[in-house]
Amino acid sequence: MPQSLGGSDEPDNLALACSRCNGRRYNFTTGIDPKTKIEVSLFNPRQQQWADHFIWREDGLKILGTTPIGRATCARLDLNDERYDEDDSIRKVRQFWVLSGWHPPDEDPRQD
Ligand SMILES: [Zn+2]
Repeated sequence: MPQSLGGSDEPDNLALACSRCNGRRYNFTTGIDPKTKIEVSLFNPRQQQWADHFIWREDGLKILGTTPIGRATCARLDLNDERYDEDDSIRKVRQFWVLSGWHPPDEDPRQD
């Protein structure tokens, strides 16, 4: 729960995030699932497991939501930089990570 919506700054209400994700999350707690058009809670890394809601696309460049929460979180946080298709998009960075053999993490599920 964001502080601006009454959440505390106690450790149990905080989650480590990069500035990119933190900025895009802003104080949103919900998003729209693009498939069902239903508003759902965003993924909560403190209470939910990443692998229950997301997979990597086969090429490792895109995160795909597998549930309404996963899809709504991908859309709200623009986890694949689809709104800003710039040269420094996260997909290009992931491409270097894939070529280097660092990505996607072995423990993360991938598209078949
Ligand atoms: Zn991030």
